[in-house]
Amino acid sequence: TRNSAVAGLDDLPVRDELRGKSPYGAPQLDVPVRLNTNENPYPLPEPLVERIAERVREAARDLNRYPDRDAVELRTELARYLTRTGRYEVGIDNVWAANGSNEVIQQLLQTFGGPGRTAIGFEPSYSMHSLIARGTGTGWISGPRNDDFTIDVPAAERAIAEHRPDVVFITTPNNPTGNAVPAEAVLALYEAAQEAKPSMVVVDEAYIEFSHGDSLLPLLAGRPHLVISRTMSKAFGAAGLRLGYLAADPAVVDAVQLVRLPYHLSAVTQATALAALEHTDTLLGYVEQLKQERDRLVDELRAIGYDVTESDANFVQYGRFDDAHAVWQQFLDRGVLVRDNGVPGRLRVSAGTPAENDAFLDAARELVKFVG
Ligand code: PMP
Repeated sequence: TRNSAVAGLDDLPVRDELRGKSPYGAPQLDVPVRLNTNENPYPLPEPLVERIAERVREAARDLNRYPDRDAVELRTELARYLTRTGRYEVGIDNVWAANGSNEVIQQLLQTFGGPGRTAIGFEPSYSMHSLIARGTGTGWISGPRNDDFTIDVPAAERAIAEHRPDVVFITTPNNPTGNAVPAEAVLALYEAAQEAKPSMVVVDEAYIEFSHGDSLLPLLAGRPHLVISRTMSKAFGAAGLRLGYLAADPAVVDAVQLVRLPYHLSAVTQATALAALEHTDTLLGYVEQLKQERDRLVDELRAIGYDVTESDANFVQYGRFDDAHAVWQQFLDRGVLVRDNGVPGRLRVSAGTPAENDAFLDAARELVKFVG
């Protein structure tokens, strides 16, 4: 029973821009093969689980105290990881961490967006960028893409010059389409954004560890308005941990501290993330397996007869369908949960274990008759 004195949330004095809207809602259904939220299918290895238990036990002894507000040890280790894998040296002053990269993005929009300001993204892209913009009172501008889902750079430059947004989002590899954005395109949009305002350019690299190419981290050199956003939810297989981070000029790290809640990263979160970082090499080994499975999905889907978007992520966009949602239901009826992101004619599947991918591909063979 729902003990409520009103008919629904629209009977509350909620902000106008939230009226009639729905929350982010990827279905969390209990089906045999769940390939809908780009999670890593591999549970954390047992030695890491043990190490987490050890570090959390240590942290528990101090839970009467607030955690390290500046997350010094964690940011130091994240900087070390970025330096080791990103071909560019960053230190603790360049790194900031929060509860998932969603919170990183929220802090960036609270700092550089907000009422009277705007942000632009090139859609279809990660839907939370526009949702967090709305939640922070930031106006949203939907920028264009080409039919093959690459960013239409000249059109994007024109949109930036026309709207003069305060924040520019570039997701690479892009979600839900999977394709990476070339460094030259990011540089062109950064230049356009500097001429127009100057504005902050946020490169969301949530899936970069799965890319055939490299992180754009080296572009930070000499570009104080560039921010690279990352997460431990995908490559580190730790979506449940809620740990995202950014790399940028130290001034950006100082700026986001104006809006972060004090002690936002719990001692348990910091201890768990540090344990995971100790096992980086093992976890990146799983990433290599997932990249191979991703490439297999692309190849086999094409061989079956689907139109498949190039993927540098741990998921693959495929189609085309006259009615993507009806086909989504057909997959579900066969025990396979994929994602309908609302991109016309397309569905998205996350790379799972080889057995999960086989089950998906079996269903895909039966359902290719719906390709329009
Ligand atoms: N950016 C992109 C492009 C994503 O797809 C996601 C998660 N689906 C996120 C950020 C947020 O991830 P998290 O908050 O778990 O770090």
